[in-house]
Amino acid sequence: MRQWTVITSLPGETQQLGKFLGEAVTGSTVILLSGELGAGKTCFTQGIARGLAISAREPVVSPSYTLMNHYHGRFDLYHFDLYRLSHSEELVDLGFDEYAHGEGVTVVEWAERIPDQNLEGLYVRLTYGGDDNRTLEFEARGKDYEDLLERFACLWEERGKAI
Ligand code: ADP
Ligand code: MG
Repeated sequence: MRQWTVITSLPGETQQLGKFLGEAVTGSTVILLSGELGAGKTCFTQGIARGLAISAREPVVSPSYTLMNHYHGRFDLYHFDLYRLSHSEELVDLGFDEYAHGEGVTVVEWAERIPDQNLEGLYVRLTYGGDDNRTLEFEARGKDYEDLLERFACLWEERGKAI
């Protein structure tokens, strides 16, 4: 599956959606989130963390100043927020490439700021709808990501929608 779109109407629904993505992860993964401030990128990442069995005692917050937070779960989660990235060398200094090609799960908020826009990964574009609606457009780049998107969408169709 290359593309898939979901509209959520509550923050909890966006988190639930993220949880299924976290559950669908079976290995090294890159998830690239783009969208305006308040679009729901952190909310979605909180769900991914739950799906990776990261303890709820470790609250997932935007790493706005540190640029990256690390959590331990079923897989390690490296949560980047590039909002305050001033130049791309900073990404190199952070070791972004090592994480992105490493064993854990790398989730990036403001992924539109990554200079290499050809990275393999699951691209997610979040946009506002009316009221509390948010549209999440998924695009898989690479065979592994097409498989991931398929598993994730199946979980949502089977179990998520009803919540
Ligand atoms: P970002 O990380 O993209 O800046 P956040 O996840 O921090 O965004 O914030 C999203 C905000 O939008 C939160 O205040 C949340 O309560 C609100 N919200 C309202 N409806 C939704 C929805 N359907 N999905 C996600 N967040 C929503
Ligand atoms: Mg955020």
